[in-house]
Amino acid sequence: MLDADFFRRWMTATAASVNREAERLTALDSPIGDADHGANLQRGFTAVRAALEKEETQTPGAVLTLAGRQLISTVGGASGPLYGTLLRRAGKALGDAAEVGEEQLAEALRAGVDGVMTLGGAKPGDKTMVDALLPAVDALGDGFAAARTAAEEGAVATTPMLARKGRASYLGERSIGHQDPGATSSALLVAALAETAEADGE
Ligand code: ADP
Ligand code: MG
Repeated sequence: MLDADFFRRWMTATAASVNREAERLTALDSPIGDADHGANLQRGFTAVRAALEKEETQTPGAVLTLAGRQLISTVGGASGPLYGTLLRRAGKALGDAAEVGEEQLAEALRAGVDGVMTLGGAKPGDKTMVDALLPAVDALGDGFAAARTAAEEGAVATTPMLARKGRASYLGERSIGHQDPGATSSALLVAALAETAEADGE
């Protein structure tokens, strides 16, 4: 079972990974965006980490809800409200449970990804974070490592896609041949989840 501390460690691991990969995320956002994705997420996850240190979070749901709220209020770009919705919706779906199972987590993240698709209007294949998140949620039934692989493959698979949502869509055909920054950061989020579970011996 996964408790609030597990979820705090997941968010902290994501913050560390975003810090390590910020330059790469920004470089990916340069040819098909405005070169701010790394900085956006660094600002967002730094705020998440600070909030988790300051405010008490007793349940997994409370951790994700607080994290989502921070992302919405601190990230200026499109990715803030989208990641914020992912985590807030997932947090809400987990309710007040003190501990949750892997199946509950998978269901909650599916609700979160549904929220992302409703808010942003992106479908699979539109070259967005959805292309990493949805395969990860689909694979979570086979375990955390499977979800991580699915997210990484999903991110790589955005390269030949034509962008239909977000800034990259303004480029039309010229968006083809570049990996989507948001799908790449989504793979980091899922990889941090898998790392946290591995460290736990899950
Ligand atoms: P901005 O585009 O405002 O500069 P970021 O650079 O932080 O925001 O994030 C860009 C990423 O957000 C894209 O790579 C894409 O994955 C994701 N994104 C943008 N618009 C949408 C959308 N409508 N639906 C899903 N994801 C989106
Ligand atoms: Mg950007």
